Amino acid sequence: MRSSEAAGLAPGSTIGIIGGGQLGRMLALAAAQLGYRCHIFDPHEAPCAAEVAAIFTRGSFDDSGAIAAFAAACDVVTFEFENLPAAPLEALGHKMRPAVRSLTVTQDRAVEKRFLDEAGVRIAPWAAVDDREALDAAIERLGLPLLLKTRRFGYDGKGQAWVRAPEEAAAAWAAIGQRPAVAEKGMDFSAEYSVIVARTADGHCSAWPVSRNIHEGGILRRSEIPPGAPIDAQVSQAVEIAALLAERLGHVGVMTVEYFACADGPVVNEIAPRVHNSGHWTIEGAATSQFEQHVRAICGLPLRDTRLVGQAVVMDNLIGDDVGQWDALVADPNARVHFYNKGEARPGRKMGHVTRVR
Ligand code: AMP
Repeated sequence: MRSSEAAGLAPGSTIGIIGGGQLGRMLALAAAQLGYRCHIFDPHEAPCAAEVAAIFTRGSFDDSGAIAAFAAACDVVTFEFENLPAAPLEALGHKMRPAVRSLTVTQDRAVEKRFLDEAGVRIAPWAAVDDREALDAAIERLGLPLLLKTRRFGYDGKGQAWVRAPEEAAAAWAAIGQRPAVAEKGMDFSAEYSVIVARTADGHCSAWPVSRNIHEGGILRRSEIPPGAPIDAQVSQAVEIAALLAERLGHVGVMTVEYFACADGPVVNEIAPRVHNSGHWTIEGAATSQFEQHVRAICGLPLRDTRLVGQAVVMDNLIGDDVGQWDALVADPNARVHFYNKGEARPGRKMGHVTRVR
């Protein structure tokens, strides 16, 4: 590294980002403001992060040689996407922030749930389902309804199927491709929210104000800050849990914990070991964005203030065709608009977002 660990990485240093989607794009923009150069590693031809970064390497996530050469050209390496093969990253050692453990624990729902159980936090009752018989046993033990989720490679509600009656079990097992899965008891909750924290290598942790998250078809539609009742009453406990989980993972950088607001308190749904869609509002709505804070944490700079800068913030995702309203959105004086320039506006694809601070 170019400067001492205590002083942090000097401007002009290079941050490697594995994954070239919109999260990588917004990380690269924040890093550029602090004088860092970003090097994107992604298998696609023209990922949307590459056009705002200094360097782009096209390579496969499982190509150890390509990952090693990429990392050798960077001062620190991070990721914006958790479904990465861990083996090529093990060799990066301390250059990797967060460390590989944050990935390996959170990229497999069964491993993640064992980690959460060991940490003593509340999650939906669950069972590992490796075959059709195990699904029947899970139905017997957990009751119905339950939600079957593939252990790996699920996102935005993909790889999930509800089982509401015993006769739906076969169809649900087929719908998730008969892959190793977990079955979760269907939870009764009144709202969903997320806590985003940043943690430094020396253990300082800070959280942003909490957002209420509204999903549609498994995809985040809107985040609202402050979250209001009944979430407000659970916030301090949820923030404590998120800080504890970051500590137990030894996580360095930004980490997100998603919750269900149940009548008797917070229930953890899942952990994302990275910046998160429900934190996009922090770019204009907080004193420091999640992207800048992640860059600070991984580069060894001090964390900054995370307070809300207005009374309230609403962030709306632009999904698929929504982006067609771009001309009205850029003309709206209250809208802070972000387009990711991802090309084709396929249904369900996150094309941009709009933040309104009041
Ligand atoms: P996930 O991919 O785990 O975040 O799940 C996507 C969405 O499915 C969540 O945001 C919830 O709305 C819903 N969901 C997930 N798990 C459960 C559960 N155990 N009970 C009820 N709804 C759930």
